[in-house]
Amino acid sequence: MQKNQPKNIVILTGAGISADSGIATFRASDGLWESHSIEKVATPEGYARDPEFVQQFYNERRAQLLDPKIKPNLAHIALAELEAHYQAKGIGNVTVVTQNIDDLHQRAGSKNVMPMHGELLKLRCVKTERIVEWRSPEPVTDSDRCQCCTPPQPLRPHIVWFGEMPFYMDEIQYKLSQADLFVAIGTSGHVYPAAGFVANARSLGLPTMEFNLEASSNVSQFANSIYGRALDTVPRWVRSLTRG
Ligand SMILES: [Zn+2]
Repeated sequence: MQKNQPKNIVILTGAGISADSGIATFRASDGLWESHSIEKVATPEGYARDPEFVQQFYNERRAQLLDPKIKPNLAHIALAELEAHYQAKGIGNVTVVTQNIDDLHQRAGSKNVMPMHGELLKLRCVKTERIVEWRSPEPVTDSDRCQCCTPPQPLRPHIVWFGEMPFYMDEIQYKLSQADLFVAIGTSGHVYPAAGFVANARSLGLPTMEFNLEASSNVSQFANSIYGRALDTVPRWVRSLTRG
């Protein structure tokens, strides 16, 4: 084991890590939100007003994600290798907290993933919140119904919309409290509560590191910033932790 090697690492990832896989950036200035208003497709009120339109929006995103051309890139793969290496050598835990709704970390082989903003390939019953996997480019319509209720209820996208609480918040705080290093990769630093994790990490005395194309809006909060494409910078960092 290397001297000063962090044992438990919490890694927050955002749109920047999936951009190199061809996933159009979600919520970015050049992204998909521009052509659909956020209120229409990413709020509970928008869904209540026009569920068919909202389903259509996520159907398009799901079909894109399931296109065979879309694959995990070297950054996703490096994080999966880091987790596997830490596990195999008994060094510690690597946790990936992702703001992305794609499944590219899981496809790359990461096991310890917390998709805090939900998952495109899942739906849930609007009444019981029971989750249903939907790993098919077949469109979901508003007439698709759950199998848990009588009468059967609509299935909404398993996505955290504006005004809703992200998933895994308690688990993320616990993982931070056990961590030796907090890393952010490809996040804008605009979307809370994720943008606040670096402040939590600092208050816990953790070293902090960010990987980004350019300075994020909360750059000053990170002790160490590395700029460039994630598929170049992240594998290099992982190699520095796993060699020897
Ligand atoms: Zn139900």
